[in-house]
Amino acid sequence: MLTDPSFKSLKDNYPDFLVIGGGSNILFTKDVKGIVLKISIGGVTFREEMEEHIVVRVGAGVEWHYFVDFAVLQDWGGIENLSCIPGTVGAAPMQNIGAYGVEVANVIEAVHAYDTHEDRFVRFSKEECAFGYRESFFKREGKDRYIITSVDFRLTRKHVLHLDYGAIKDELMKQKIENPGITDVSRVVCAIRASKLPQPKQIGNAGSFFKNPVIDVQLMETLHSHHPDIPHHASGEGFKVPAGWLIEQAGWKGYREGDAGCHEKQALVLVNHGKATGREILNLASKIQEDVFGKFGISLEREVNIF
Ligand SMILES: Cc1cc2nc3c(=O)[nH]c(=O)nc-3n(C[C@H](O)[C@H](O)[C@H](O)COP(=O)(O)OP(=O)(O)OC[C@H]3O[C@@H](n4cnc5c(N)ncnc54)[C@H](O)[C@@H]3O)c2cc1C
Repeated sequence: MLTDPSFKSLKDNYPDFLVIGGGSNILFTKDVKGIVLKISIGGVTFREEMEEHIVVRVGAGVEWHYFVDFAVLQDWGGIENLSCIPGTVGAAPMQNIGAYGVEVANVIEAVHAYDTHEDRFVRFSKEECAFGYRESFFKREGKDRYIITSVDFRLTRKHVLHLDYGAIKDELMKQKIENPGITDVSRVVCAIRASKLPQPKQIGNAGSFFKNPVIDVQLMETLHSHHPDIPHHASGEGFKVPAGWLIEQAGWKGYREGDAGCHEKQALVLVNHGKATGREILNLASKIQEDVFGKFGISLEREVNIF
């Protein structure tokens, strides 16, 4: 097991390495030449405790949902909508994980990492992380250079709930919860996710395979005239369209090619029914991208990391 001081000789001894957390967002299409660094840095420590908020530092190897559960139990708010997302704390800033109207960027104060090029430990402020929709500095310019070691989160002690997205409100009403707290939101989010998303332990998948594309006004108008029911919402200067809807309209939902498939309930999720290789899944993804482009003029960008 590598510890902090031995990080220093990493690049010299192992020029090829791959960092993984839980491995839930990587599609392997080849063997790893060098070593695989499985990040197991643990721990949750207090940095600051104020009346309205708290700042905690969490080790990169802590399981994300374990941390959410822990926070909810302490009555620290801000991440309850991100309940039940697979993976580790260290990977969360990589693609700025998000769900049900909340992104992890909202609660990140700083990210600590080891710079394998400069051989030193560095701190990134939230601004330096350059978070975007399923994006960050670490996924773009900093890729293959920084190993995230811990993350500082600023969580609330006086909560602002985000209930407007997805089925959260409906589910709370169904359960007759009139004044929900963060525990209720966390529980309901996990229940909705369990009913909608295929579980990787039952059928191999990496969650949403593509990002939801943002298209310009002109294309939106053209598409709307042909597909009046196209779901969309304003995003910056354009409109965000659900990639799952496009894939479903193109006829791929439930499609199967050998053991590579498009999930029968969630078109955005590509699945491995058994023995599909990473290449076969990637080939299916490329066919879907080409078809969606041909039918709608929209390029789907992959969300999953390809190795
Ligand atoms: C069923 C399912 C549902 C999902 N739902 C969502 C969702 O709602 N929202 C969402 O945003 N994502 C979702 N995902 C994607 C996934 O949960 C997240 O991307 C998660 O952050 C991946 O964590 P991980 O530890 O498994 O990362 P890994 O898959 O191990 O790694 C992902 C990337 O991060 C890099 N990396 C990992 N750890 C570190 C580190 N410490 N330092 C530097 N680089 C690192 C890896 O090299 C790789 O490039 C879902 C995935 C699945 C399977």
